Amino acid sequence: MRTPDRILILSPHPDDGEISAGGTIARLAEEGHEIHYMAFSSCEKSLQPCDPLDILKQECRQATGRLGIPAENLVLLDFEVREFPHHRQEILDRMIELGRTIQPDLVIAPSSFDTHQDHQVIYHESIRAFKKISSIWGMEHPWNNIVFRTDIFVALEERHLEKKIGALAQYNSQSYRPYFSADYIRSSAYTRGMNVGVTYAEVFECIRMMM
Ligand SMILES: [Zn+2]
Repeated sequence: MRTPDRILILSPHPDDGEISAGGTIARLAEEGHEIHYMAFSSCEKSLQPCDPLDILKQECRQATGRLGIPAENLVLLDFEVREFPHHRQEILDRMIELGRTIQPDLVIAPSSFDTHQDHQVIYHESIRAFKKISSIWGMEHPWNNIVFRTDIFVALEERHLEKKIGALAQYNSQSYRPYFSADYIRSSAYTRGMNVGVTYAEVFECIRMMM
């Protein structure tokens, strides 16, 4: 791996990357790594009627900025939410295109255990796109998982958790969802920290490790 490493977050929908890896992103950005973020849908069908159609893109720009990802490293695409299985090749093409440009050392994607159809597509296509060039970690989304493998722990400090909570607070349109609450974010990091004897942590599945 290079120093600084190049890291690519593959977030099926805006907010998935921040929810599962927000503390890790904050820590890696603080340590000087180059972080890129690709989200695949603006989820227009999932919004409340009063929301502007690009609200999630606006909120994603604010949230990722809070975590330390530069605006020029964001790629926000417009595949229709819950319809990713009909666009697998186009999604793969967009990953390969970005991968050629940035050559990531590490890709953080949905896990192999994720049951959401859009997340499954991003998981499968991330392997096709990056298995020969990058390490790949799978994100934990407890509401989408029946089981999960806890392979990789990233220890977090209070300041990383505060950045994550601050980033997720940018998603006003999603604030009714229980997993956006500071209580959930803090207790989840506390639980994963307890697994490995640190105060806070986020956990990932090891899909591919390249050295
Ligand atoms: Zn999602």
